[in-house]
Amino acid sequence: MKFGTKAIHAGVAPDPSTGAIMTPIFQTSTYVQKSPGDHQGFEYSRTHNPTRTALQQNLAALENGKHGLCFSSGLGAIDAIIKLLQPGDEVISTNDLYGGSYRIFTKVFERYGIKFHFVSMDDPATIETYINERTRLIWAETPTNPMMNIIDIAGIGAVAKKHKVMFAVDNTFATPFLQNPLDMGADIVMHSVTKYLGGHSDVVMGAIIVNDDQLAEQLAFIQNACGATPGPQDCFLVLRGIKTLHIRMERHCQNGKTIAAFLKNHPKVEKVYWPGFEDHPNHEIAKSQMRDFGGMISFTLKGNDMKDAIKVLENLKLFALAESLGGVESLSGHPASMTHASIPKEEREKVGLVDSLIRLSVGIEDADDLKEDLRNALNMI
Ligand SMILES: *Cc1c(COP(=O)(O)O)cnc(C)c1O
Repeated sequence: MKFGTKAIHAGVAPDPSTGAIMTPIFQTSTYVQKSPGDHQGFEYSRTHNPTRTALQQNLAALENGKHGLCFSSGLGAIDAIIKLLQPGDEVISTNDLYGGSYRIFTKVFERYGIKFHFVSMDDPATIETYINERTRLIWAETPTNPMMNIIDIAGIGAVAKKHKVMFAVDNTFATPFLQNPLDMGADIVMHSVTKYLGGHSDVVMGAIIVNDDQLAEQLAFIQNACGATPGPQDCFLVLRGIKTLHIRMERHCQNGKTIAAFLKNHPKVEKVYWPGFEDHPNHEIAKSQMRDFGGMISFTLKGNDMKDAIKVLENLKLFALAESLGGVESLSGHPASMTHASIPKEEREKVGLVDSLIRLSVGIEDADDLKEDLRNALNMI
């Protein structure tokens, strides 16, 4: 089955009791048993819920994986993955990553004796120098947030396989429409479903997709034992959102390309970060592992003045100033003071996350209106 068909049909079947074509919202905490243990696969909704099961199967199909697991947030999903590890284990993570991921790694799991190395993943060969007998997991995000670096998934997958280390990819920015890490050697795909998968800025949710049966079983154990599961209403909303994922992504990519080109030619803009540019340092890898380049763009201003960046953000009307991304409506953000404020300034600046950096999540509005909005706001500085 092709992607657009899977988005609409995978995991979803008419409800056997009524014929309802849409998956019902099974708003129930528990299920009646005929006699102890005699049930239809559902005992308690933390463990299983039919609305969640439909979504989990749908997500697994979109990522070409066997097993999907949903969590009450993207961070809930990351929490479950790190709980596969033991004190003393080591993780190699990209140094250019979502601020909340950095926070849970350093502020929560380092306290439990797990060691994290934050490294540049531009070249898979350099990762090998950090691998030792305690390394259990490689953590990558691509495109990275907010610098839009591209990490070679197949290259890192090969290193991980050689050293028998698990390899997890946070695929939130690309979505399964643009890239499928499991096909390129990743063992675990993680999503903040909150973003493009939900797509309408009305749900917070996370997901994990894997192929390995044993790994799926361990994660399902953690999902149930630790309890960060989403409710059925949220699962329904995401199932509904995913039905248009392929259409939305096409427009996000088209608008992304238009806005990236507009910014690149603007006299007040210093640098534009978008993997679709031929002079992007890893453009060739982006071209080989992604189907298109997405709608996430970051840019800096000439003079690198934080005050100018804030003025632009205050004057944007369509690009609402808000955390998050991936919804149908365009959003703007100031990573240094918002999403990435928990990363120390020296760490931030090492990867180019300077004070004037503005991040855009280009929505699916008319591109002419989005350009006009940016033109007006940039004129104010
Ligand atoms: C938002 C985000 C997360 C965290 O997900 P939540 O749903 O907010 O908990 C993780 N990784 C990336 C890349 C994100 O953008």
